[in-house]
Amino acid sequence: MRAAEAATAALSRADCLARDAADPLAGFRERFLLPEGILYLDGNSLGPLCKDVRARLVDVVDREWGVDLIQSWWKNDWVGMPRTLGDKIGRLVGAAPGQVVVADSTSVNIFKALAAALDLRPGRRVILHETGTFPTDGYIAQGLAALLGPERVVLRAVPRDSLVHAFDEEVAVGLLIHAHYKTGHVLDMDAVTAAAHAAGAVTLWDLAHSVGALPVALDTAHADFAVGCGYKFLNGGPGGPAFSYVAERHQDLVHQPLSGWIGHLRPFDFAPDYVAGAGIDRFQCGTPVVLAMATLDAAVDLMLEADMAQLRAKSVAMTETFIAAFDRLCEGLGFALNTPRDPAVRGSQVCVTHARAGALMQQLIAGGTVGDFRPPDILRFGFAPLYNRHVDAWDAAERLASAARTIGGDAA
Ligand SMILES: *Cc1c(COP(=O)(O)O)cnc(C)c1O
Repeated sequence: MRAAEAATAALSRADCLARDAADPLAGFRERFLLPEGILYLDGNSLGPLCKDVRARLVDVVDREWGVDLIQSWWKNDWVGMPRTLGDKIGRLVGAAPGQVVVADSTSVNIFKALAAALDLRPGRRVILHETGTFPTDGYIAQGLAALLGPERVVLRAVPRDSLVHAFDEEVAVGLLIHAHYKTGHVLDMDAVTAAAHAAGAVTLWDLAHSVGALPVALDTAHADFAVGCGYKFLNGGPGGPAFSYVAERHQDLVHQPLSGWIGHLRPFDFAPDYVAGAGIDRFQCGTPVVLAMATLDAAVDLMLEADMAQLRAKSVAMTETFIAAFDRLCEGLGFALNTPRDPAVRGSQVCVTHARAGALMQQLIAGGTVGDFRPPDILRFGFAPLYNRHVDAWDAAERLASAARTIGGDAA
């Protein structure tokens, strides 16, 4: 895709169709169940259903659970799924095997990782995060601060663009949103991690809007901790489990406080006292959510069939297409782009602002174009390279313009 051309030449719908015809990933679209007449640009909130998931779930329910019953924990390796699926996700985030485990929700995993990070830096109290961090990240940090008290935890919030300069000898851990949910801006993982380490701090990367959409290289960046979401770009189903990454060098040193039995070194000894499991296993807590994990496993298998460089190229191309169409079709209608124009620091979404964003999104959804409204004034469109098309980007911009014309009024 010629990104520069998309930004300058007058783009047309026919150009978009031509790009879709030349798309090496086009075949993946039919592997999803996408309802007729729906233009779905919300896969960064809830990924759609891939057809392989249905077949997989039928097998897990009818054979593994229905027939093999409790023997499935070993016979069908339910007990190993958090690790085997974790290693598959590790391939998507640049983590060598043995560093990713699937368990719990992103929120719970943030709690575990923040506590473990503080434990690694006993002389330091500060959790550094950005002002306007994703709500659950801030709330979990607040909860941990309330639990441990001000002698142990102090929160420090700075603007996103000063994070890289805000690490000092008081900071224990930086809680870092890799791709921002309201702007799609992507932080430089290498630079921020290096700044944290230079100050003696560690990093916790929240990959909720990155995993499955952008190449992430946790090991190369020397990241310390990361968490990510299963139900967004990974298409792991509503409420699907999340994952934790802990760099191998930290694993045997860290303790996380949710010391459930599945994270024990020998859970099936039923011993009275907790002994943390080896390696990444200690980031598990309770019994794995097998059905939800099977869903995520089938969806991740599908994603692993695609080439990450191609996924990223298409993601950049689609967001370029949307921005070009937006510039052309939505001009003078009261919109502003709220996403970086530089694709190097842009995730797989485009956000725009409008004074009547809520009403506009309602109108778009009523007409079959599904994106998100984020108060007070943001319309967010996620572009998932496995199943979205360039023509979707064009049509969304066209419908956005037409909705703004209909709603009219305060387009100022
Ligand atoms: C979606 C999202 C989460 C989700 O957390 P849950 O525990 O799954 O509700 C967390 N962090 C960020 C940045 C997100 O975008």
